[in-house]
Amino acid sequence: MPRPLQALIHLDALQHNLQRARDCAPDARVWAVVKAHAYGHGLQRVFEGLRSADGFALLDIAEAQRLRDLDWRGPILLIEGVFDARDLEWCSRLNLWHVVHCEEQINWLAQHKSEWPHRVFLKMNTGMNRLGFTPQAFRNAWLRLSALPQVDEVSFITHFSDADSPKGISQQAEVFLTHTADLSGERSLCNSAATLRHAHDPAIRGDWIRPGVMLYGASPDYPEHDATHWNLQPAMTLHSKLIGIQHLQAGDTVGYGSTFTADREMRIGVVACGYADGYPRHAPTGTPVLVDGVRVPLIGRVSMDMLAVDLSLVPQAHLGTEVTLWGRGPHHSLLSIDEVAQHCGTIGYELMCALSPRVPVEVLQPHQG
Ligand SMILES: *Cc1c(COP(=O)(O)O)cnc(C)c1O
Repeated sequence: MPRPLQALIHLDALQHNLQRARDCAPDARVWAVVKAHAYGHGLQRVFEGLRSADGFALLDIAEAQRLRDLDWRGPILLIEGVFDARDLEWCSRLNLWHVVHCEEQINWLAQHKSEWPHRVFLKMNTGMNRLGFTPQAFRNAWLRLSALPQVDEVSFITHFSDADSPKGISQQAEVFLTHTADLSGERSLCNSAATLRHAHDPAIRGDWIRPGVMLYGASPDYPEHDATHWNLQPAMTLHSKLIGIQHLQAGDTVGYGSTFTADREMRIGVVACGYADGYPRHAPTGTPVLVDGVRVPLIGRVSMDMLAVDLSLVPQAHLGTEVTLWGRGPHHSLLSIDEVAQHCGTIGYELMCALSPRVPVEVLQPHQG
């Protein structure tokens, strides 16, 4: 029998969450953001669940190639654009749309020999200060781009730094909308947080939204709002089994470094899941885990292949009992990846992206739940 740890990908949840994004931004088209192997879920695995998106947004030409191999003929956007001049040949060959965020990318385009002009998204840096032209340099970049025979349509894109927080997006949105006001072209502003919190405003919604994490069922503004508040369903379940049971006396310790000491007689369970599977090693005692659908605290240090949980609340637990690290558990239980992440001092994004390649993954069709 294989090790009992497994990840499940729920296609029904992906479909549901994509529909949620559409509901938040009626009339806008949707880029399903599938960078980082679809946030750790696997591009091929999520493809069926997200194929009703209007386009896919990602970083790597190799991943774009994979989408074309899956027979995806619709739009694909490279959200960081090309990394060197030769990438443009791939853009032509695979018909990729690409972001243009710096002068060098315009120079490469100007040198590029292409049969078909490219569709590009010109990026404005409105305050994130990662990629993009400053508002002052934007018009000149637009003029240069528009004059190139290699360029077909120019659209406009920006990215918010604080869509998930009280600071909000108003300042950045205003800079973007003012500096593009008299330019004709499609606009794209919203990541998941902006889609959920701000896309009711048609100017913010723009023509294309770019939801990522919400498609996978995590909340972009946890703990202010959780996934249930936003009506999102987890697209990934990480589950395993108890492979060992220990009876402790008061004073006994658990795991490397003896960081947990029993203050009473207690029964603990050992779970087949560790940091080599992507479960964070720094998950502290008290991080929630579901055993047979019941929330119990993790105890002691997470090791490479195993972790321990307190079984005081689940006297029925035995060797082989089902354990849920995040996602859907038995008896309609749920454990949000956001909550686990918060205990570990990180965000759901990081945990899902970190799922290790050694974990076997099963894709559940919509009717399988
Ligand atoms: C990753 C990314 C997104 C999606 O962000 P989420 O917070 O996951 O919705 C959108 N736009 C750009 C430019 C990104 O890099």
